[in-house]
Amino acid sequence: MNHLPPAGELAARFPVHGQVPLRSGAEVSDIMGRLSFGVDFTDHMARAIHTRGEGWHDRELVAYGPLSLGPATSVLHYGQEIFEGLKAYRHADGSIWTFRPEQNAARFNRSARRLAMPELPVEDFLGSIAALVAADQRWVPDVPGSSLYLRPFAFASESFLGVRSAHEITYLVIASPVGPYFRKGFKPVAIWVSTDYHRAGPGGTGAAKTGGNYAASLLPQEEAYAQGCEQVCFLDGATNTILEELGGMNIFVVDADGSVRTPALTGTILEGVTRSSVIQLLRDHGRRVTETAIPLDGLLRDIRAGAVTEVFACGTAAVITPVGRLASRDFDLTIGTGEPGPVTSALFQQLTDIQYGRAADPYGWLYRLV
Ligand SMILES: *Cc1c(COP(=O)(O)O)cnc(C)c1O
Repeated sequence: MNHLPPAGELAARFPVHGQVPLRSGAEVSDIMGRLSFGVDFTDHMARAIHTRGEGWHDRELVAYGPLSLGPATSVLHYGQEIFEGLKAYRHADGSIWTFRPEQNAARFNRSARRLAMPELPVEDFLGSIAALVAADQRWVPDVPGSSLYLRPFAFASESFLGVRSAHEITYLVIASPVGPYFRKGFKPVAIWVSTDYHRAGPGGTGAAKTGGNYAASLLPQEEAYAQGCEQVCFLDGATNTILEELGGMNIFVVDADGSVRTPALTGTILEGVTRSSVIQLLRDHGRRVTETAIPLDGLLRDIRAGAVTEVFACGTAAVITPVGRLASRDFDLTIGTGEPGPVTSALFQQLTDIQYGRAADPYGWLYRLV
């Protein structure tokens, strides 16, 4: 169980600043009819500023809208930025909940340390989300599989071209109503294994949620599209032989004997909240789960021999994504039947049932926002 303070108490840390113009009911219903990922945003955003000497201050909710930044703003040149992604789910009784937000808060601070940025108190991380969702609760959709996607982020907002950690950091949370990830049903994706590029290397920023890792993944992602694949899987930068993860999702392999493997956290992999939830659910359903090195050549051999029956990816946005095909310059393999396997499908059901309040929450993973 989590022992976090109630959301209402924490939300008081981020009062509404001034008169925030609100979209009309008609505009909101128009947007709620579309629900495309990351296109439309709610009326408010949460904000706090950190300055050297003063610490965090000016916590408030302001109108969602453009920022005014000098052309010398540090983040535009050196990429000192971190972010998080989590969702607010509306339950059948109208209440609004989020999933393991203290894990996102802790990871935000791990990312902050790696990027030489100030840590944000957990109460501020949770309070900013609670205040934003309470103010914009009419933006939390209720159609099945939909949610309000929350994007907390912080960046070097000091206007200075010197190369050092910025003396001013801006923290913001924006929110976008999103529909179900799988609009056309729970369809497996094809994955391109990149052998030319890496997203992270030893001692780098792979374990931090920072924009630079995504910047490094865009060219290989385009290569994947060009090969008819939806996602890229990266190999380790040191040996180019061991599976790491996708651009924004962790990966799992289900063996024919029912046991499950996922790449061990070596410092170059992002530790997903979904990943850790999946490991717990599988183990509590009696499966053996190992966090281990997964060499690509062994995986290809096992897929060909039928010793690997399912592969899936996971992350907050899509929850669980079945992988039906693994391809690269030297191979092109169908996994299992090419359709979502039973372990993958059951996990998707179990996780989303907890998130939407359709099943009990024995772990205390849910945190009530409204
Ligand atoms: C965010 C992210 C994930 C998934 O993390 P969740 O907490 O499950 O959403 C996986 N890999 C990378 C590179 C990420 O940025």
